[in-house]
Amino acid sequence: MAEKGKIVVAGAGIAGLTCALYLSRAGFGVDVYSNECETMSCLEEAPLVENFPGFPDGISGSELLYRVVDQAVRNGVSIYPQGIVSVDSEKKVCIDTDGRKISYDEFVMATGVSHKKFTCPGSELAVIHQCAVCDGGLYGENDTLAVIGGGDSAIGDALYLSSLVRKVYVLIRRDVLRVTNKFVYDRLVATENVDVMKSTSITRIRRNDDVDGAYVLELNNGKSELDVNGIFSCIGFDVNSIPISGNGRTWRCGDCRSGATRQAVVAAGNGAEVALSIINSFDF
Ligand code: NDP
Repeated sequence: MAEKGKIVVAGAGIAGLTCALYLSRAGFGVDVYSNECETMSCLEEAPLVENFPGFPDGISGSELLYRVVDQAVRNGVSIYPQGIVSVDSEKKVCIDTDGRKISYDEFVMATGVSHKKFTCPGSELAVIHQCAVCDGGLYGENDTLAVIGGGDSAIGDALYLSSLVRKVYVLIRRDVLRVTNKFVYDRLVATENVDVMKSTSITRIRRNDDVDGAYVLELNNGKSELDVNGIFSCIGFDVNSIPISGNGRTWRCGDCRSGATRQAVVAAGNGAEVALSIINSFDF
């Protein structure tokens, strides 16, 4: 069967790769573009995914994503380490981060989300990590860490970090967590070296002059202070997008859709749905 058409997918997360997998198996030529900094999958940062069907013992986000990459490539998908910076949907041309023009028949945006940055006075002088899996290994068993945020990401990261360091403080600005998973909440409560500090905002960050690389966090306008060796921020995400000119047809799948739920299984399902819509719009 001759190739049916050329599809460009921007973003190599689970949504983009699932979409690419379906399209490639349907006979399309599929090129996935992913600039590591901008469209790297947040799934890669998940220490343990316990709610993806088919993995009763859980699976790390990076292992899950690696398997999807492998499956897509085995099914004919090509993956390029460049991002897409702009799309002309009328001419059906997009430009990659190296300035190359790429023609396509259908364009799928699956660019996911990026971490929101935590800022406060002094934060510009501090190293604030955004991925426990990537950077947790920089700290050791004598260290104390702060995790900012009280959602699923913050609690997942705090639990992961608690296995590496002496103490983890989770700082939440209100008095409620946003955790959606009872098992994770129960594990948090049972983990002795994690303390949740409610109604606690960091209002300034200073270097700790006595300890190399450490910080003093001023809390609630100086009412108290916390000495930490490192700071991790998990305060939510902003949607990644690519400027699209013209009124031609483009598709979106995964977390970059407005109102997406940031669940790996939903992103994968949505990638498949978009692929099926494209497949159904072409004649075999
Ligand atoms: P959330 O938006 O759920 O939580 C963000 C947290 O950061 C909240 O506690 C929020 O506080 C706090 N926050 C926001 N801005 C600031 C700030 N400037 N200073 C201090 N604290 C701040 O983000 P998550 O990344 O945790 O989760 C996003 C989505 O992804 C959710 O739908 C979640 O369920 C999903 N997810 C699911 C996972 C899973 O199923 N295993 C794993 C990870 C994420 P406040 O409440 O006051 O706004």
